Amino acid sequence: MSFLLPCQADSKTLSFTDDLRLLVHGGAWDIPAQLHEAHARGVQSAYEAAVHCFRNGGSGLDVVIAALDVLEDDPTFDAGRGSFLNECGEVELDAGVMEGQTLRAGAVAGIRNFLHPAQIARDVMEKTNHAFLVGAGAEDFAQRCGHTPLPPEDLVDPREREVFARWIAAGKPDAKIFFSSPAAESLRSGKHPDKRGTVGVVAAVRSSQSASGWTLFAGTSTGGTPGKMKGRVGDVPVIGAGVYADDEGAAVSCTGWGEGLLRISAGQRISAAVRAGVPVGEAVQQTLLDLRRRLDGFAGIIALDARGNLAASFTTPFMAFAGPSGVLAPLQQPVGCVTVRRQDY
Ligand code: ASP
Repeated sequence: MSFLLPCQADSKTLSFTDDLRLLVHGGAWDIPAQLHEAHARGVQSAYEAAVHCFRNGGSGLDVVIAALDVLEDDPTFDAGRGSFLNECGEVELDAGVMEGQTLRAGAVAGIRNFLHPAQIARDVMEKTNHAFLVGAGAEDFAQRCGHTPLPPEDLVDPREREVFARWIAAGKPDAKIFFSSPAAESLRSGKHPDKRGTVGVVAAVRSSQSASGWTLFAGTSTGGTPGKMKGRVGDVPVIGAGVYADDEGAAVSCTGWGEGLLRISAGQRISAAVRAGVPVGEAVQQTLLDLRRRLDGFAGIIALDARGNLAASFTTPFMAFAGPSGVLAPLQQPVGCVTVRRQDY
């Protein structure tokens, strides 16, 4: 299993607070060297925004949204502005959020004209009796909630038009290869389109309401995969796949090959294993190994149990994380903000 153990590329110290456990990711794929710094900076800013929000009295959900807002604003990542284009050359955004004490969850998919789908997902959770809205209905709801609509073109980074043209020139390859090791060299040499990463957060906030003393939260946001079919939805907004939080199990946020993460119900699988007594780090690794063994798929996952234990692992060549000093021990990281390389690369 050594391929799951990464080593450090670069790092920066991040602050830590006793009442908050927090881990942020900025996608798992073959991140080229020239993008490491932008990824590390992006996840660091998101982490700091989340801690700042918490110190100013923000709730666990506020913390998750504060981090996702920063990452959706940053065109380094495949979320909000900067997202990949679908087969029709349009942006379609997906996001999901969840809270582990009452298992409340909200998700949206196929959002074309709002920058912050995670905020809309939160509104679905807090202002409706539903858990998941898609397409035009989700957009109408967002407008009624006061989110500012944008012309869909505003979400398209000009760089993505070139990426889209190269994806067509490369023969419209299936996105599954972008996460796997054999794609590494061709991606680096530019034969295939550049990729960017989905973003996510897991958080635990000390709570007297929860038996364990912590309440768990998770959020994930994405533009999906390059050249995806119009209407395609991956793991990210699906509760129990790319996002999940249960105080009796774990909070989970996934990135990687979405069809595979969906088919193994990654988030629910990890949470159920933790609930049955498996340590959270082992549950994450076992799920990544199952994805690899059963479906030949690659991904990265962050998770957090209700005792405040954090776990992060990935089978892609690189993954970007931010977390407080000490808690990235499974990654052998002394401190927090890194673009990490898998040890056997
Ligand atoms: N999992 C995302 C999706 O399939 C993509 C990613 O994580 O980069 O939509």
